[in-house]
Amino acid sequence: MPDDLHILHQQIDACQRCMAAGYPVVGPPIYSGNIHARLMLIGQAPGKTEAGQTLKPFSGSAGKRLFRWLAQAGWEEQDFRARFYMSSVTKCFPGPNKSGRGDRAPSRKEQMFCSEWLDSELMLIDPEVVIPVGKMAIERFFGRKRKLVDLIGIRFQIDNRIVVPLPHPSGASSWIQKSENKVLIHRALQHLAAVKEELGL
Ligand code: SF4
Repeated sequence: MPDDLHILHQQIDACQRCMAAGYPVVGPPIYSGNIHARLMLIGQAPGKTEAGQTLKPFSGSAGKRLFRWLAQAGWEEQDFRARFYMSSVTKCFPGPNKSGRGDRAPSRKEQMFCSEWLDSELMLIDPEVVIPVGKMAIERFFGRKRKLVDLIGIRFQIDNRIVVPLPHPSGASSWIQKSENKVLIHRALQHLAAVKEELGL
């Protein structure tokens, strides 16, 4: 593992593992933030807007909802982006899904290919707080068997980090539309507001 974030970013930028294995992913890898970030937000994978236009994580329609949620915890988007690290389980745009109406979910193999980069980001940045967003990022911390309803709305302490999971804010998600789940999301945002206050984030 490189001991410098700049070197790690160079290695991620040069990565061709998924392409070499025949997956239709499109670079460049998307992430943002610096070594001093005390909080790290981890999504699933960049979408078309992120990869093709803005080159910034969560800058498409799902990102709009995510930042509306984070505003409820007290963070303004520009400030959040400037001070915290944002990454994802896989860092390249996976391409469209078969129906063409959404993005393809990265396969287990692509997640495995990219896990070294995420592990290295976590190790180098060593954030005090992690927000895994969506099932794929949540699985990274809690395994595959736990259900979202048992994890959203709870503040966890894992090793030396506070971990507060959020569901994926995609408009296509039926999970976030259910009123009982909206209560859980609200609870998670209250935890984040408390963490912000406690740690002076
Ligand atoms: S998604 Fe990750 S592992 Fe796959 S090519 Fe991009 S950086 Fe490499």
